[in-house]
Amino acid sequence: MAIQALRGTTDLFGDDARRWAAVEHHVKRLCRAHGYGEIRTPVIEDAALFLRTLGETTDIVQKEMFRFEDRGGHDIVLRPEGTASVVRAYLEHNLHKTIGFAKLFYLGPMFRAERPQAGRLRQFHQYGVEAIGSYSPWIDVEVILLCLDILNACGVTETTVWLSSMGCREDQQRSAAQLRERLASQRAKLCQECQKRFDKNVFRVLDCQNPSCHGIAWGAITGSPFLLCGNCEAHFTAVRQGLGQNGVAFDDTQVFARGLDYYTQTVFEVRAKGLGAQDAVAAGGRYNHLVEDLGGPALGAVGFAAGIERILMAQGAVPAPVERPKRHGVYLAVAQPALIGRAFQQVTQLRAQGVQVLMDYDGKSLKAQLREADKAGCKFVAILGEKELEQGAITLKDLDAQSQETVAVEKFAESVGKRTGHACH
Ligand SMILES: [Zn+2]
Ligand SMILES: [Zn+2]
Repeated sequence: MAIQALRGTTDLFGDDARRWAAVEHHVKRLCRAHGYGEIRTPVIEDAALFLRTLGETTDIVQKEMFRFEDRGGHDIVLRPEGTASVVRAYLEHNLHKTIGFAKLFYLGPMFRAERPQAGRLRQFHQYGVEAIGSYSPWIDVEVILLCLDILNACGVTETTVWLSSMGCREDQQRSAAQLRERLASQRAKLCQECQKRFDKNVFRVLDCQNPSCHGIAWGAITGSPFLLCGNCEAHFTAVRQGLGQNGVAFDDTQVFARGLDYYTQTVFEVRAKGLGAQDAVAAGGRYNHLVEDLGGPALGAVGFAAGIERILMAQGAVPAPVERPKRHGVYLAVAQPALIGRAFQQVTQLRAQGVQVLMDYDGKSLKAQLREADKAGCKFVAILGEKELEQGAITLKDLDAQSQETVAVEKFAESVGKRTGHACH
């Protein structure tokens, strides 16, 4: 039987690959415009990195990590998310000592051993930003603005921002005590896993997939489940004001909690029209203890991550114009297969000048070559035949302008190079 891609993984090519490249282009362009530099971290990490940071009661850690032992007995994980790796790298390379405040972005595959279903892949792709080394509410505002700018540029414009604050660690302890108190009378009705969560991390009961637990937990909550101290309240107010001053509409009445333990204070989710109610297209927040938890100094930090597959699904719901690329480059056709070698020399010269150029190596008919040139979207076509070599002249057709001219064979590369000065992408 033919070997196929693993379930929950996909191949990308053609138009799909072009749509992906467009998203990646906007990510890089806008992140750089906002002062974020790229960071690339490995896809495999020490399992301890995620066990220590995501929270041992989270679904990711309990069920969804691709975790294996290598031949040397090391406990290894295929990264399920990007933030922990970025913070590890930030500390490992002493960025807290050399640059202090770091603004970084990443783009790449993440892995979760989930049951593959619509919109959920085992290898999925995210981009995200992390601003490490500041407690300022303005950086929260910047991150949310950047998040929305990228979505807009990608054609995902019908979005809603859910904004909340989970408070500091002390607030979270008080809030957990309050939630436990409210759930105490119904504790026996929770599933077995939630019984454990109740003591260890009661907020995880809110994430339970079991509808009965879900109903009980959310039924116990009115308004935000998080109690905020004066400092956290002031931070949240500043973020809301900053967003308002910059024209960002948000909904701070929705009750939600980000399902990872490292979040503190600001959390947000961006929901896009056309995606299921459960699914945010992008989400993030502040994580003021993560740097410290990984052995660094106490440093405030905030970031977000967005799913590229989700963006493409949302684009599908809000049909984004797929731009037809402009014609560019040259196709050098040969009249006889015997001339392939001569044509190849010309092609090599052109490529050395940065001109995008195609030719046929299989001895296809001239008609087939011209069809290929059209399909590939070439701007120029030239035909090299015995006659052209005898006369030392070759005809260059401009398919856009529907015009043609004759150039000397020995000057061919030079004159094509001049005409396609910006043909190299
Ligand atoms: Zn607080
Ligand atoms: Zn449960």
